[in-house]
Amino acid sequence: MKKEGLLIVVSGPSGAGKGTICKELLNDAHNIKLSVSATTRKAREGEVDGVNYFFISKEKFEDMIEKEEFLEYANVYGNFYGTPKKAVLDTLSQGKDVLLEIDIQGAMKVKEKYPKGVFIFILPPSLKELKERIVKRGTETEEDIIKRFSSALSEIEKIDNYDYFIINEDLQRAVYELRSIITSEKNRVSRYKEQIIKKFKEEL
Ligand code: 5GP
Repeated sequence: MKKEGLLIVVSGPSGAGKGTICKELLNDAHNIKLSVSATTRKAREGEVDGVNYFFISKEKFEDMIEKEEFLEYANVYGNFYGTPKKAVLDTLSQGKDVLLEIDIQGAMKVKEKYPKGVFIFILPPSLKELKERIVKRGTETEEDIIKRFSSALSEIEKIDNYDYFIINEDLQRAVYELRSIITSEKNRVSRYKEQIIKKFKEEL
């Protein structure tokens, strides 16, 4: 039975651990492709162009907006981030699942355009822990840390727009929960009922 891929959208405040959870998931989920976003943010040490992000200029970003090449884009903590549309839609139509790790504004735009997606929110165990994680990561300036931390509560208040939440207290547990959500969604009757009926009718 040919199933269209599932669009998995993961959001949550900076420092909640979205990136680590998604990386762990992708290690052994071969049918899930991570969408590589474009950004105007400077690359951090160790980040690779085309792998972590496509690091592009503001001019190039504006050009892509103009050409409607983004599924969504947003200004997050002072930089632009966007999801290239073509790669996502092509992968889904090949029957592969696509994972988007994007902010809440972006996730809401995706929901409007692609309501079939599954929307998952990653929470930290506490705000204290969140702050410690952002500081410990050591990749942001003090100004950026404050910007990211002070946005956390207003981001969490938007959780109502999501289908599922995961509290990232223990990494393996969080990955297990994410995997379980994806598995359940891929077996949801309403998603695939036409294909199921078609498959069995064809056998007659
Ligand atoms: P960071 O700078 O820490 O890599 O990412 C900052 C925020 O931007 C995170 O919440 C991340 O999920 C979000 N983000 C990354 N890529 C995209 C994207 O393509 N679109 C949107 N809307 N947000 C993104």
